[in-house]
Amino acid sequence: MRVAFLGLGAIGTPMAARLASRYDLTVWNRTAERARAFAAEHRAKAAATPGEAVTGAEVVITCLPTSADVERLLAGPDGIVSGLGKGVLFLDCTSGDAATSRSIAARLAPHGVAFADAPVSGGTNGAAAGVLTVMVGGDAEVFQRAVPVLEAFGKRIVHMGPLGAGDAMKAVNNALLGVNILALAEGLTGLVKAGVNPRLALDTLNASSGRSFVSESLIPERVLTGAWPVTFRLALLDKDVGICLDLLRELGIPAPLLERAGELLHQNRVALGEDADYLAPIRRQEQATGVEIRG
Ligand code: NDP
Repeated sequence: MRVAFLGLGAIGTPMAARLASRYDLTVWNRTAERARAFAAEHRAKAAATPGEAVTGAEVVITCLPTSADVERLLAGPDGIVSGLGKGVLFLDCTSGDAATSRSIAARLAPHGVAFADAPVSGGTNGAAAGVLTVMVGGDAEVFQRAVPVLEAFGKRIVHMGPLGAGDAMKAVNNALLGVNILALAEGLTGLVKAGVNPRLALDTLNASSGRSFVSESLIPERVLTGAWPVTFRLALLDKDVGICLDLLRELGIPAPLLERAGELLHQNRVALGEDADYLAPIRRQEQATGVEIRG
């Protein structure tokens, strides 16, 4: 089967690498050199334009920063729509927003192209290992067609509901991730300043009711070790929390805690820059308090 993958970023690259080992894959990336390097390393072809990438493909997968970035790639002489055939399955793995996903689906439908939003969770390591969670929004029939392809990089592939439901799920998930990062930065720097050994504090937390993915995995692997890898940009997490807050406002759901977390994450993004990792606010808190969470 012929698959086109557009967007070889931090998570798109390992997802595409898994597709390359199963399918006849063509990749496209805005910075063309990345697509060429990918094609040289994997069993894949590099296309010069989005339209060329999708020509002849049965499945198209996109993974860009925002839904708006995907929508902008649709039109124009070299755009995606110029190369799409009838009956194509278009899966957007961007952590996107429901309104734009619905707009993309409406623009593709007259061309006989089925669309689903299919954002992922599990990080770059999860993508490389093929164990991502994929949150799909779209028709049940489109979901059934999508599952075998998504299994190339996904372990838990969930039909969340109609178009946009995957986007909504992902946005709320990441807002909760943001809360946990900020809350642990505050709580752990406090414990260390109070004289508690950081590893002991985390071990105890992880055997107690305050634990989370951040305390069980991210902090032990990246903060205690001082490794601080850059795998997911804080700017993208800020974008996700923004999508979640827009959704809650639209629904009339009061969310003072998430609003405050969104403000704090955005302030961190402004202070730390567009390339900072999503755990960098923890380091910023360390610097502000004069303590280090290491051990
Ligand atoms: P990166 O910032 O690492 O990469 C972004 C990719 O999109 C690059 O290939 C970049 O091209 C391309 N791009 C950026 N802007 C445009 C544009 N306007 N038009 C065309 N291409 C563009 O992002 P990630 O790979 O980390 O994230 C991609 C999506 O996946 C995001 O929605 C993110 O929220 C989500 N995600 C990321 C996770 C992670 O761990 N990194 C985990 C789960 C979801 P170029 O090479 O030219 O810069």
